[in-house]
Amino acid sequence: SAIPAIVLGDGQIMPKLGFGVYKIAGDEAAGTISTALELGYRSLDTASFYGNEEEVGRAVRESGLPRDEVFVTTKLWNADHGYDAAMRAFDASAKRLGLDTIDLYLIHWPLPSADLYVDTFRALQALKRQGRVVSIGVSNFTRAHLERVIGETGEVPAVNQVELHPYYAQSELRAFHAAHGIVTEAWSPLGRGAEFNDSVIIALADKLGRTPAQIILRWHMQLGNVAIPKSMTPARMAENLAVFDFELTGREMTQIAGIDKNARQGADPDLMD
Ligand code: NAD
Repeated sequence: SAIPAIVLGDGQIMPKLGFGVYKIAGDEAAGTISTALELGYRSLDTASFYGNEEEVGRAVRESGLPRDEVFVTTKLWNADHGYDAAMRAFDASAKRLGLDTIDLYLIHWPLPSADLYVDTFRALQALKRQGRVVSIGVSNFTRAHLERVIGETGEVPAVNQVELHPYYAQSELRAFHAAHGIVTEAWSPLGRGAEFNDSVIIALADKLGRTPAQIILRWHMQLGNVAIPKSMTPARMAENLAVFDFELTGREMTQIAGIDKNARQGADPDLMD
């Protein structure tokens, strides 16, 4: 496919651009996910919490694509922390997805208040040894949470999926990831539209004949991030994929770095429970 891939620390290959399916549910879900695959997306980001694992699995099976050409991520929800609960949660997700193996299984939030994420990660290690999941990782983990998982289990999560967009660029966490071979995956990569009216983004879009969304996604690609934008509009879904035929210069990348406001939109991982 036309989408470049990144090699995870465990050797598995993951598309750098995927399709996020949060809040795509009900009657619309199956059609939208199938459309994404038809448009060329080869990576789908779901979660137990999103309530659409069945639709994701069905779209993958009915796409006619070889299973190894679609990368499927799902996530363990907050109520399912702890070793045994995590094993049961994975069984339930795998059953809903109806797929023999899951490409990437993530702990959705660290939930430090429950203090179980190390045990949960040990369950993910067991699932990986059993071959039920190819890669294991985390989401919304801070540096401290990552250090503890690595220190206590000896395994480095393949991926940390975190909120990341130009107004919340997470440069310190990205540097930590890079130093440890953790792939940075950006959720809300478009900041849910927050940066579309930014003067720096608009000026670059005008100069390069691209849309603000494309400028932002190209920035992610050049930073080395995996990004999973979401849209329900086929034209926008296609637009978000068309970011591999132009490049931002070093100066343009620096201009975008300059608009970072450390402005998170989602929950604080240390407080989310
Ligand atoms: P996003 O940054 O992808 O923004 C999505 C919104 O931007 C859409 O609702 C749409 O209205 C708009 N949009 C998308 N493309 C556009 C375009 N080309 N032009 C104009 N508008 C456009 O934010 P998101 O949906 O929050 O995040 C994407 C995915 O990240 C989710 O679907 C989910 O898979 C994942 N996610 C994960 C977590 C987590 O805790 N791990 C949290 C939130 C989201």
